[in-house]
Amino acid sequence: MAQKPFQTEVSQLLKLIIHSLYSHKEIFLRELISNSSDALDKLRYLTLTKDEYKSMKFEPKVSIDFVEGDNPSLTITDTGIGMSKKELEDNLGTIARSGTKNFLSKLSGDAKKDSQLIGQFGVGFYSSFMVADKVEVASKKVGNKEAWRWVSDGQTGFEIKKDVKKEIGTSITMHLNDEGKEFASRWRIESLVKKYSDHIDSPIFLTYEDTEYDKDGKEKSKGLKTEQINDAKAFWTRSKTEIKKKEYNEFYKGFSSDMDDPFDWVHFRAEGNLEFVILFFIPKKASPDIFRADYQSGVKLYVNRVFITDDDKELLPPWLRFVKGIIDSSDLPLNVSREILQQNRVMAKIKSNSVKKILDRLKTIAGNKEKYAEFYGEYGRLIKEGVYQDFEHKDALTELLRFKSTKDDGLVSLREYVDRMREDQKSIYYITGQNQVSLKNSPLLEMYQKKDVEVLLLDDEIDEIIISSVPKYDEKDLKSVNRSGAADDFSEESDKDVEKSLQPVIKKIKKVLGDKVKDVKLSNRLSDSPSCIVADENDPTAQMQEMMKSMGQMDMPAIKPILEINPTHDIVVKMKEKTKQKSFDSIALLLFEQALIQEGVKLEDTSGFVARLNKVISDTL
Ligand code: ADP
Repeated sequence: MAQKPFQTEVSQLLKLIIHSLYSHKEIFLRELISNSSDALDKLRYLTLTKDEYKSMKFEPKVSIDFVEGDNPSLTITDTGIGMSKKELEDNLGTIARSGTKNFLSKLSGDAKKDSQLIGQFGVGFYSSFMVADKVEVASKKVGNKEAWRWVSDGQTGFEIKKDVKKEIGTSITMHLNDEGKEFASRWRIESLVKKYSDHIDSPIFLTYEDTEYDKDGKEKSKGLKTEQINDAKAFWTRSKTEIKKKEYNEFYKGFSSDMDDPFDWVHFRAEGNLEFVILFFIPKKASPDIFRADYQSGVKLYVNRVFITDDDKELLPPWLRFVKGIIDSSDLPLNVSREILQQNRVMAKIKSNSVKKILDRLKTIAGNKEKYAEFYGEYGRLIKEGVYQDFEHKDALTELLRFKSTKDDGLVSLREYVDRMREDQKSIYYITGQNQVSLKNSPLLEMYQKKDVEVLLLDDEIDEIIISSVPKYDEKDLKSVNRSGAADDFSEESDKDVEKSLQPVIKKIKKVLGDKVKDVKLSNRLSDSPSCIVADENDPTAQMQEMMKSMGQMDMPAIKPILEINPTHDIVVKMKEKTKQKSFDSIALLLFEQALIQEGVKLEDTSGFVARLNKVISDTL
């Protein structure tokens, strides 16, 4: 029988698992039991919903056997749905999931970093090769006549041959290596099952050799004994008050294959008119595919403890795709299809309640600044997405937004901002731009600093889009400092004489800049800088245009900025005498170019800029 080679990504993953997870090798048992449990869930669903399977004998269980001694082995058998020949080949020889592929592409080759990454990621079946130098998978798929056996050493590839297995289901035998022989032990298996898999809905049986001591104190075998070793009660149906934190942590790890404890969770049971249980976890780290369109849903739907689907992205709104957990309701029909789910009123209510419960929890977490900052660092972008997309919960989500600010080193909420606003202040001010440092030094902030007005620093590229969907908060307008109008709120009466004396300068600059700008104006927002650019009231700002360009929207008509010049700045004052001189043009261009640079815009004519700058320098030397 010829061997088939593993797909390159599989070999890569196998090597990585073996090298980076050896200190956690015990998780292989949890992974295999979890696969068995999924296989049992799938068959249970068929026997309840499909006529051709309704009469079949289905006794859901997982059985564990082991052999000690020179050739130790461990076998895990389930009576689940089983795999066909093709499924064995596809599931255990290739990586189909895009999330996994994406994950692999992020690896750096640095063992420590990679093992942290893999910790956030389910390793699944392949983890068996941490403890075995040969793994055999015998499987018979429900409805099929033939059984198949997949065999591999986890290095080069695998073989598939016919098998004699009679019962429907899958049996995985690991020929344990030196790393794994410790697991051929009754106590070791029992304690691991208790730790990771106690909640598995189906019974897990362990077969071991029962011994007793005779009169002389010698161990004597009483033969094989089989015993159920798990609780087999769906974890989420237990009462919240009787579950300890540690149990939530262990359940989460078994459920999600995350190596880390969860960041937080929400467990809620609704009784009365509508009955359902939700148990949601927030992982400490977002899964690697979270910003991909083909991300994997983290929520499983059960109807009366019968698993229905783990592949429905509509169970929660998209912004909550970081949540992992369970929705279980006895008020939904077992036979729900995706289409039915989407229109189902019960499901809509469960969904809406679920979002409310999570929002409540987030609000509580937000009471602890440090903890919330940790959450926001990981999921802030999704909260912003929610503000933009989830109309029903927009207000609650807006309360959860946090921003950097000119008045605080940490993050600030809109509530905090409003609470400490100057008494005469009517609006909330923000500036958008590329990074916090250049934002803090932006000339656009000079006047606000002078007047002691707080400005929010929005340095995430999506901020400008998000904030445009929040025009008001607590009856106060949100105003962009990058726009022409915002400065008028604080400006003092301008000096008519100064204005008049600068008219020729403005006129000449306009002429020099031509259609590079929409307008040239005297500024009332600058104190130290000679110039700045702003966007006209309803135009996208300079950074927004840069972002659109980087997203490939090249053919968008260029929207021109307004150049503002500082009437009190030395350069501007001196320019009054120079309108007739040759150097005026260069200086006018330099005023414009430096303002663009400060807004994070890439100059079109860099060499022209440098030449002008050098000319001006050499003239003054
Ligand atoms: P995951 O479980 O995260 O999908 P695995 O590598 O553990 O990844 O398993 C790959 C696939 O192999 C599973 O999605 C499932 O379709 C199949 N599989 C694994 N174990 C079993 C089993 N005991 N019974 C039936 N199918 C299984």
